[in-house]
Amino acid sequence: MRTIFGIPVSPGIAIGKAFVQAAEGFRIPEQTIDADAHEAEIQRFHTALQFAKEEIIVNRESTRNALGQTFADIFEAQFQILMEPAIHGEMEALIRHQFFSAEHAVTIVMRKHMETFRKIENSYIAEKVNDLRDIEKRLLRHLLGVRKETLGLLSSPVILLSPNLTPSEAANLDKRFILAIVTEQGGAGGHTAILAAALEIPCIVGTGEFLTAVDGGDNLIVDANSGCVIIRPDTETVAKYRRIRDADVSRIESLDAYRDLPAETKDGEKITIYANIEFPYEAENALLRGAEGIGLFRTEFLYLIQDKDPTEDEHFDAYRHVAEVMQGKPVIIRTFDFGDDKSLDRYCGAPERNPALGMRGVRLALKRWTMFRCQLRAILRASAFGDIRVMFPLISTVKEFRQARRTAMLEVMDELSEQGIPFNKNLPIGMMVEVPSAVVMLDKFAEDADFFSIGTNDLTQYTLAVDRGNSNVNHLFQPDDPAVLRLIRRTVAVGNLHSLPVSLCGQVGSNLFNIVTLMGLGLRTISCAPNNIARLKRIIRQMSIADCKSIACTVRQMSSAKDIQDYVKNALRKAAPSLFDPDL
Ligand code: PEP
Ligand code: MG
Repeated sequence: MRTIFGIPVSPGIAIGKAFVQAAEGFRIPEQTIDADAHEAEIQRFHTALQFAKEEIIVNRESTRNALGQTFADIFEAQFQILMEPAIHGEMEALIRHQFFSAEHAVTIVMRKHMETFRKIENSYIAEKVNDLRDIEKRLLRHLLGVRKETLGLLSSPVILLSPNLTPSEAANLDKRFILAIVTEQGGAGGHTAILAAALEIPCIVGTGEFLTAVDGGDNLIVDANSGCVIIRPDTETVAKYRRIRDADVSRIESLDAYRDLPAETKDGEKITIYANIEFPYEAENALLRGAEGIGLFRTEFLYLIQDKDPTEDEHFDAYRHVAEVMQGKPVIIRTFDFGDDKSLDRYCGAPERNPALGMRGVRLALKRWTMFRCQLRAILRASAFGDIRVMFPLISTVKEFRQARRTAMLEVMDELSEQGIPFNKNLPIGMMVEVPSAVVMLDKFAEDADFFSIGTNDLTQYTLAVDRGNSNVNHLFQPDDPAVLRLIRRTVAVGNLHSLPVSLCGQVGSNLFNIVTLMGLGLRTISCAPNNIARLKRIIRQMSIADCKSIACTVRQMSSAKDIQDYVKNALRKAAPSLFDPDL
């Protein structure tokens, strides 16, 4: 039994078997063979070994020709490991005596050696882990061949362990078969965190390296409430976590009572709660969970779930569906925001040196006019079927917003009018406020925008210079840092001054404690993952705006996120002690 820790980003507890996804997307299978099949299996292993050897020789020779002996030595080291008879012997023994499949034997032996090397405190030796990992991948590639199993082929529920999920992998997860997700890399604001919360899958990211210590099929407990993963737990621990999981489920069920109650404070102030969604099918769930609208539809996931761009009609069907499900409630569609953590090679081109500051959000949209026009046409067409609004991501200059609104949008509107296609000519057009320059210039934006939506994931990233998806700096990713709170406050103030609606749709809005500060700073509309709506309503209904204002007033004097978190927690404990009842 071993416990590792990471960043909990989507709550819940799961108990199940590991599905280990190696860097190339291989499953590490837990397979045995028939007792009389071991000779054939050993032969299969040797064939794979031979292919892997030839591959390394080719790599070694071409590297020597291109770059010289020093670089060729990298492959020489791998070659020596691969030729090591003791390693072959260990693998063969597992196949011959324990009837493991060749894949499983390779995985077990290579991971055992990686684990040993990892424990040695010598950077040269520790580096050898990469060679071993590379050899394992080579052998598995040849052994699995066309039988390579992918996430898409899962047929029974597993706990998914991965170095890091790509945006497309995360977008294509099949909730029926994923009990929980654990990734070695990633931070609280990354795409895996967002999608896991949307799909309501318990998830922990940023554990650091641990996959070498787990085999496919190992028993695991994932406690994504506290952020720990227990590998091969004993029966006592499993029994304990079953009890915790059951209590967790009934606690969540008890929140159902809040779904249909208004989000109204004790002193009668109404807070509007919207839902963030990534896929059209989530709209039903959002409504069921008590959402009063969709505050953020992250449309880039429509592109990530397939290998080609959605057609205009596919976009239209998705938007119309959400508008109709929401029965006249507002639906804020954000135009595609590729780049940075949601990159997709086919749009973002060659890797950029600094993608967070590169060609992403509205910058990419303005550059890729055909793609942008296609989406805008679909959004406008769908606006005839509900209260659809549109907003642009990553606006950093007034010129960008004007180009998107006055040039792009107007051109598409004229086109639809000429074609006699119905749409809402007064469709509200707003912007994400997620770059500090937008906050600084907000009075200028107010001349053009119909509403503002604060994106605290990016606002935190850009204000504090902290990569939102990097576990190394996750401790610095604090959306309740005083600098971020000041920007939020200013946005609300400018919005109020110009009578423009201001909402907030970053992850910070899902946090129990932050909601109080945000209300105290004047926010009255919050958009969060659907499974957080009932929890937020419960808090809002136990607070008064007067309490929230007084908390925010003290918070504004503070100079660190830690002080703010401690203070708000204590203040909440006093104002609404029942929120801390462990049975609730
Ligand atoms: C944000 O940045 O806070 C936001 C809501 O947008 P995304 O997480 O999709 O970048
Ligand atoms: Mg953003």
